[in-house]
Amino acid sequence: MREGKVYLVGAGPGAPELLSLKARKILEEAEVVIYDRLVSNAILQLIGKEAEKIYAGKRPGKHRITQDEINERLIREARKGRVVVRLKGGDPFLFGRGAEEGQSLRKAGIEFEVVPGMTSALTVPAYAGIPLTHREYASSLAIVTGHEDPTKPCNRINWEKLATSVDTIVVLMGVRTLEEIVRHLITGGRGPETAIAIIERGTTPSQRVTIGTLNDIVQKAAERGAQAPAIIVIGDVVKLQKELYWFKGVKAPVS
Ligand code: SAH
Repeated sequence: MREGKVYLVGAGPGAPELLSLKARKILEEAEVVIYDRLVSNAILQLIGKEAEKIYAGKRPGKHRITQDEINERLIREARKGRVVVRLKGGDPFLFGRGAEEGQSLRKAGIEFEVVPGMTSALTVPAYAGIPLTHREYASSLAIVTGHEDPTKPCNRINWEKLATSVDTIVVLMGVRTLEEIVRHLITGGRGPETAIAIIERGTTPSQRVTIGTLNDIVQKAAERGAQAPAIIVIGDVVKLQKELYWFKGVKAPVS
């Protein structure tokens, strides 16, 4: 029997044209695809008709299938000699648990390949007209998760140190903890007038951008009912958005 193989594939941020040619080819050849919630319908349509599609259904806090179960399933399917695709939003190696899956596959002696995806951390700000660096405004950036509760001592991100050590801060999974994040950044010395953007459902027709300052963003986010999935960008580069916004067919940003 031929050996199966697992492809850890990044689906990009949502817009199907942001999928790589390699990812598209593998989706057409796949025999089984295990996909996450953030993979858009338009991309699921590209999977071959014969392929078995399995929804890994991870919602914040509620894991329909556990990570261990996903790892086991990937191994089991590959051992049947199938072409297995693990399809994830954005890039599999950036807050995507692709590394854990790779580790488990390696341990089980299963061959795998990583197909990088366009991460939401970079593409979503671009679709909101926000460059993450600019010769005049920012020469460094940090990409962090807001998922860890900033008030918990076990939190590994030192927000107060981060506040002034990089120019641009990009936060994934940060809508729920926005208030704590903002508070820690101000305590850490970042000016309350620093610009901040929340970009919901970036690159899709329902993209929505909210612009504010560290001072007023919590209130603005509450007023607009900002929700995940969203990317938060903090820093002077956000101001360039006025000049550089280009994405048509969606509501204009609100500040
Ligand atoms: N591996 C993914 C990130 C997975 S974590 C990547 O590289 O993009 C999930 C988080 O990604 C969401 O909570 C949100 O912060 C962000 N995200 C993914 N797609 C997004 C989109 N289209 N618009 C805004 N944020 C998005």
